[in-house]
Amino acid sequence: MTIAIELNGRPLKLESPLTILNVLQREHQSLYQPQGFEESSWIDNPWCPLVRLVEVDGRVVPIAVWADRRVREGMTINTRSPQLEAALQERLTHLHDRQQCQFIAQTQEFAAVEAESDGLIDLEKRAQWHFEPRGSRPSILHDPNACVRCKACVDTCNATQEVGALSFDEQQGVLFDDSKCTRCGQCILSCPVGFRKIPDFVAEMMGCTRCAFSRPLGAMREVDDTGKVWHALKDPTKCVVVQFAPAVRATLGEEFGMEPGSLVTGKLYAGLRRLGFRKVWDTNFTADLTILEEGHELLHRLHNGGRLPQFTSCSPGWIRYCEIFYPDLIPNLSTAKSPQQMFGAVAKTYAAKCLGIDPRKMFVVSIMPCTAKKIEATREEMDSAHRYWLEKGEIEAGDRFQDLDAVLTSREAAKLLKMGKIDLATMPEEEADPLLGQYTGAAPIFGRTGGVMEAALRTAYEVAAGKPLEKLEFEGLGTLDGVKVASVAVNGVELKVAVAHGLGNARKVCESVRSGGEFAGYHFIEFMACEGGCIGGGGQIIPTNTLTRKARTEGVNLDDRARELRKSHENPEVEQLYKEFFEKPLGHLSHHLLHTTYVDRSQQAKSPTATT
Ligand code: SF4
Ligand code: SF4
Repeated sequence: MTIAIELNGRPLKLESPLTILNVLQREHQSLYQPQGFEESSWIDNPWCPLVRLVEVDGRVVPIAVWADRRVREGMTINTRSPQLEAALQERLTHLHDRQQCQFIAQTQEFAAVEAESDGLIDLEKRAQWHFEPRGSRPSILHDPNACVRCKACVDTCNATQEVGALSFDEQQGVLFDDSKCTRCGQCILSCPVGFRKIPDFVAEMMGCTRCAFSRPLGAMREVDDTGKVWHALKDPTKCVVVQFAPAVRATLGEEFGMEPGSLVTGKLYAGLRRLGFRKVWDTNFTADLTILEEGHELLHRLHNGGRLPQFTSCSPGWIRYCEIFYPDLIPNLSTAKSPQQMFGAVAKTYAAKCLGIDPRKMFVVSIMPCTAKKIEATREEMDSAHRYWLEKGEIEAGDRFQDLDAVLTSREAAKLLKMGKIDLATMPEEEADPLLGQYTGAAPIFGRTGGVMEAALRTAYEVAAGKPLEKLEFEGLGTLDGVKVASVAVNGVELKVAVAHGLGNARKVCESVRSGGEFAGYHFIEFMACEGGCIGGGGQIIPTNTLTRKARTEGVNLDDRARELRKSHENPEVEQLYKEFFEKPLGHLSHHLLHTTYVDRSQQAKSPTATT
């Protein structure tokens, strides 16, 4: 049967039956794509319901839904019209300004409707809210207009973390006291607005899972630094290098349809390389380096009557908590920088020197499971590479740069990969680049509670006793119990160690140390701000719950057991670094580049004690 239709204002006679897609293909009509919106190039989905639009009989509709519809007599189809152009312009402007897909944003409304039926909000009143964004820069962002006022974040901050940085006001909603906020990001993990995913069948049908904008933004979320890294990668004057944390390799696959705990180390090296990073290195390398410095520091304190117990210093949320609430315990903190910060300092000195790269042009990106790492990277004292080159007279004081240039959470890293159309699941397995890429089994376990302690004991014992530990794993330290203890005999002395994760548990142990209680008699205590350690960090893939924490813990443990070398001091590249650059742990140069100082922040906090 022949039918008459109109396509882009042109009359056509066609032999029916035909679908709308058939007609567009036969007539070589492609869909309209306005220029000037970089964000539209980040959508790797030919059926995107947001921007792949067609106008049928005067209605602007997604081609994904209308492609198989039969054309009828008299139908008008436009791939470009003032109405369609206006709709696309509006959608892309929204995408550009808010970095949020309007289609996915609708999923936030599921949480809002539920909140109304629970009596938490009135949807009509909520539609009138026009609050300014709040939060704790440079880590946490709160959108009060998207909030459903469930107070889950307030409970997490006050009851679980026992920090008291969040409060609730009937008129204003959630309020921040950023002088107390540790930036741990646990509030983000509890926010139901960002938890809601687009239903799987819709995501699959529409192809949204591959899109950089496929995750709905929470009312509580991290400050988004993906754009900063994207533009650095496009800047030919910059040498952009990357490191990723121990815990990231056991979680990032979840955002690409893989099971929690799947190890994606090799795939991530490959994906990051294809994104354009000039060197793909690994924070696991500096996790091993941290153990050398921190383990020797412990032995030094033990032999020289130093302040004990020594506290670990890898978790910046914990560090900030100690600085705000327990400044009297700052001398207990190891002065060793976290692996993230050691990496930045080593990359812009030793690696820059070895590779002939101008440190001012090196742009170091970290991929971390943690929102507090963003504020750690901006600490004033974290510019040691700059001071190193300044002392050598090779740069000017005005050339000041930080050791790190950008920190992305695991969630942001997934977005960045999708912006570059990288599907982690289909990447080949590759190796890290040489120099700062090798690691031992002691490094991946930094990603879970008890891991730093175990890794440190493996090295400290061998250095002190002159023989290897008989058993490398301390089962009791690797569980999800809030506070754990163990002991090991070194040269006839019983070394007592403890592990606390989650700031509520840290508070119990700190109170005990402060008051001369049980934990004051310990030698070494590991603290992590987040439940489960970094595998449960505030920057991790959502959902982060007991099941995912357990699976991710198993993932990093598997990585440890699979490695031939399992003790940090056996890392050949770390050995080479000491030989060529630092000479020895706790040496003069490592003191300048690998160790740091802390700040008493108790006066900055509006009240010296947390609200509980
Ligand atoms: S980041 Fe941590 S300390 Fe800050 S508001 Fe959230 S839960 Fe509280
Ligand atoms: S920010 Fe999220 S968790 Fe906090 S009250 Fe609002 S909706 Fe609830």
